[in-house]
Amino acid sequence: MIVAVASGKGGTGKTTVTASLASLWEGPLIGVDLDVEEPNLHLFLHPILTGEETAHLTIPVVDEATCTYCGACSELCQFKAISVMGRLILTFPEMCHGCGGCLAVCPEKAITPGQRELGEITWGTAGRQGFLMGRLRLGEAMSPPLMRLVKARLEQMLAQSGGDAIIDAPPGVSCPAINAVIDSDVIVLVTEPTPFGFYDFQLAWEAFAPLNKPLGAVINRAGLGTGAIYEFCREKHLPILAEIPYDRAIAEAYARGRIIAQISPELQGTFVSLMAAIRGLAQEAAHA
Ligand code: SF4
Ligand code: SF4
Repeated sequence: MIVAVASGKGGTGKTTVTASLASLWEGPLIGVDLDVEEPNLHLFLHPILTGEETAHLTIPVVDEATCTYCGACSELCQFKAISVMGRLILTFPEMCHGCGGCLAVCPEKAITPGQRELGEITWGTAGRQGFLMGRLRLGEAMSPPLMRLVKARLEQMLAQSGGDAIIDAPPGVSCPAINAVIDSDVIVLVTEPTPFGFYDFQLAWEAFAPLNKPLGAVINRAGLGTGAIYEFCREKHLPILAEIPYDRAIAEAYARGRIIAQISPELQGTFVSLMAAIRGLAQEAAHA
């Protein structure tokens, strides 16, 4: 089972929920940080890193001596990353998505594969569990290509170790967030019951519900704000899987990089129940 922990906005407690679940998950698990623009799961899980690789994207390199300026590559590229104007051909590596289409259509074989560095992928262990993280290169604009490579590495790790994975997804509802949850079996939406939290939660529901995956909410800082979020969940038949109280001790633990499931027996119980609720959602969907 792959569980994606997502949120409509940053700062809702998504990573702390991911870390707490990872720390007490029954059976083998890989904790994955797919928030590659700002990974911080490692600050809570304190992994021992055992491997790393630099991730690259294949980009076109044009041999102008061979190019006939036919324009086939430019017509095909939907990202405007290669352009032919008369007897001038230009490539824009930062806009290239690495699909390889231009290499395939070039009739003169004038395009060869080059590389653009995307960032780093690191992996290791966090206690008895596995750990995997992507970190986007500073200045790199697109995170989905690196996320795809992290997910490919996850597939390999799961094939070796078996078990489950829990993904800390990027916040928001744009392309990287969808990319992070698209292969998951269950989506856990972390939110807070403030007006801002509620607004972003509705956007997240609108973005993720059409994916037709089992979806549940975790209300962090419960006790703040209004009851609107609870009403919304009732209306949409969206189960509330757990509530984490608004509590100074939790905020302090978070600020110190502690796993909040470990600060009190009550919170540990909350996360054990959350794990059971997530498994229940996955089983329900499997039998539907
Ligand atoms: S590899 Fe794909 S995205 Fe990149 S320039 Fe070629 S066609 Fe465009
Ligand atoms: S498809 Fe090949 S030959 Fe045609 S313009 Fe592009 S690089 Fe040149």
